[in-house]
Amino acid sequence: MTAMKLKVAGIVPESIVDGPGIRLVLFVQGCSHRCPGCHNPETHDPAGGTLWSAADLLRRIKAARGIDGVTFSGGEPFEQPRPLAYLAEKVKGLGLNLVLYSGYTFEQLLAMGDREPAVSRLLEAGDLLVDGPYVAGERDLSLPYRGSKNQRLLDLPASLRLGAPQPWEARRRL
Ligand code: SF4
Repeated sequence: MTAMKLKVAGIVPESIVDGPGIRLVLFVQGCSHRCPGCHNPETHDPAGGTLWSAADLLRRIKAARGIDGVTFSGGEPFEQPRPLAYLAEKVKGLGLNLVLYSGYTFEQLLAMGDREPAVSRLLEAGDLLVDGPYVAGERDLSLPYRGSKNQRLLDLPASLRLGAPQPWEARRRL
């Protein structure tokens, strides 16, 4: 049991656009990136959203049926790394795969992990990272799971093993 809490913007019980397969998506509240043209501006204010305990969110995920995995999106998940690292490890323990979105790049997140262990734990629990800010000038709606060309789909276990970003092969199962 944990008293950890996090700010949540919303939960989508079944999505096919936030990573491969059918996914429960947790949109966290709070994002300091302020990308011009962001499609979720209501998720920016860290004072908004709803406060959930990590334990209640875990119960919500456990009750979901027929999903392949869970996605943490936002908002900026890496601005609430402690409760999300806890939740990420539990999600993996349930045999579900985990997709992480971040407005930070993989390289920035690696550096953040040196200062905050929960950032590293969250990265280590992930299977696929969609990284980088939304850049309106690079908008491309034909790209799977992301909005602009600068954003990368990265194989997280391989990227962490090699210490450098490794592209995710779309045909590989998570
Ligand atoms: S990181 Fe995502 S939620 Fe935050 S401003 Fe950029 S596009 Fe919007």
